[in-house]
Amino acid sequence: MEKRDFLYEGKAKQVYTTDELDKIIIHYKDDATAFNGVKKASISNKGILNNKITELIFTKLEKKGIPTHFIKRLNERDQLCKKVTIFPIEVIIRNLIAGSMSKRLSIKEGTKPTNTIFELSYKNDDLGDPLINSDHAVALGLCTYDELDVIKNYTLKINDLLSSIFDNEGIILVDFKIEFGKTVDGDIVLADEISPDTCRFWEKGTHKKLDKDRFRRDLGSVEEAYIEILERISK
Ligand code: UDP
Repeated sequence: MEKRDFLYEGKAKQVYTTDELDKIIIHYKDDATAFNGVKKASISNKGILNNKITELIFTKLEKKGIPTHFIKRLNERDQLCKKVTIFPIEVIIRNLIAGSMSKRLSIKEGTKPTNTIFELSYKNDDLGDPLINSDHAVALGLCTYDELDVIKNYTLKINDLLSSIFDNEGIILVDFKIEFGKTVDGDIVLADEISPDTCRFWEKGTHKKLDKDRFRRDLGSVEEAYIEILERISK
């Protein structure tokens, strides 16, 4: 597999074409941003850690019947993936209230809602990724109702699988963001990454944060937290 042309760059990753039209290479960087790009830094080895964490999680999900874009990890920072067209939607699950929902609705962080919360944001940096509902998503032409049904079903299943994987390792999956894409064959698959950049992980008992909140809130030991997550799910 040959890495060819640079396609585009996101906040934490770069995407390259390959010698096969339906495959891309995703390169994981150490760059970290928060608050819609206002806070910027480099977290040493984050790219290496998130590449491996995403590989482990996507492989576990595939084994349980969730289709993903992931094909294989090529080296420390690169992974080979199916080329997809990303739905411009951030799909969020909240098992406990934290972050933006805690602030927006003035609910104490860590509060357990009576039901699992399925949330959508419009992936648009200029607008600050605004919260939308399913009617907005369809009206904006981001997806169809049928596609949203598929996305929601996969997302709830992913939440069950991930919550149980992390629970077994002494970690609470507080919330997470995922993205979906459509392959050239028209299949809807889980894409992007699942890592401490995109999830909130709290250690059971202590509620110690093992995710990007350590960077957002200047709590220190960011790399150590990512290493801890990789070690726990590598067992
Ligand atoms: N999240 C993400 N990318 C974003 C926004 C949120 O990966 O652009 C993740 C975040 O890490 C958390 C979950 O989605 O696990 C919910 O985030 P929230 O809406 O609370 O926003 P935040 O507090 O991160 O601004």
